[in-house]
Amino acid sequence: MSAQQRWVELADGVLVRRYVELDLSVGLVIGDRGCLVVDTRSDPDQGAELRAAVREITRQPCTVVLTHAHFDHCLGTAAFLPAPVWAHPRCRDDLARGGEAQHAEALAWSRSQGLPRDPVLIPPVVPDHLITGHVDMDLGNRRVLLTHPGRGHTDHDVVVWSPDTGVLFAGDLVEQGADPDFTDAYPLNWPAAVTELLRLNPRIVVPGHGDPVDAEFVTAQRDDLTVLTDLCRTVLAGELDTQVALSASPFRPATTRVALSRLRPTGINP
Ligand SMILES: [Zn+2]
Repeated sequence: MSAQQRWVELADGVLVRRYVELDLSVGLVIGDRGCLVVDTRSDPDQGAELRAAVREITRQPCTVVLTHAHFDHCLGTAAFLPAPVWAHPRCRDDLARGGEAQHAEALAWSRSQGLPRDPVLIPPVVPDHLITGHVDMDLGNRRVLLTHPGRGHTDHDVVVWSPDTGVLFAGDLVEQGADPDFTDAYPLNWPAAVTELLRLNPRIVVPGHGDPVDAEFVTAQRDDLTVLTDLCRTVLAGELDTQVALSASPFRPATTRVALSRLRPTGINP
């Protein structure tokens, strides 16, 4: 196994695959009759690497769930077809637009890293199973729940909860090792979405990027997000100067600027 990627077993049949690139985490939950892959990496070649790695662990038929439509979580799905692909309806709608935004992000990332060649990008696989409310999935002696806890990192984040092991795959609603990414975020809603995750009382939370964390870490991040939300509300009300908000924020100024850019004076959120 290359040092660039490795499996980490979090509980019996519940694994995370950690990648040096993008500090990405991809999930795998294995039952007696099937396995669930949580996110598919950044391009078809990377998806094929992931599928081969999954096949070294289990021969159970795969189902895919996408936590959200950012390129690094969803452009590798083709390698898993004809697996069922689950996502939130707004994730489906985003990917059904053809992937122009995701491809631009993927190319920008690849070039920023000075990679020797651009990734081969094909139109994204459009999810064919939609998560509206809770989806209770039986993988055979292994139950998982797929749910959208509300707007946060995007307007369509989905998390995967394994109640019998206490492992929660949180997508980019939780971030370890770097600030949360607000590019497509709903800063005023994000803390409530994380509070929903904490209600599950998770033992281990797997962020979309960074190392697995515990509920204490997630609580602290939720509290930081709440501080930022309060700053955003005050700036939005015209009661606080942006520069003061930047220095008072628990996150880096660049992160806070992006969060502030997501606010609109005519409404709570864009
Ligand atoms: Zn993301």
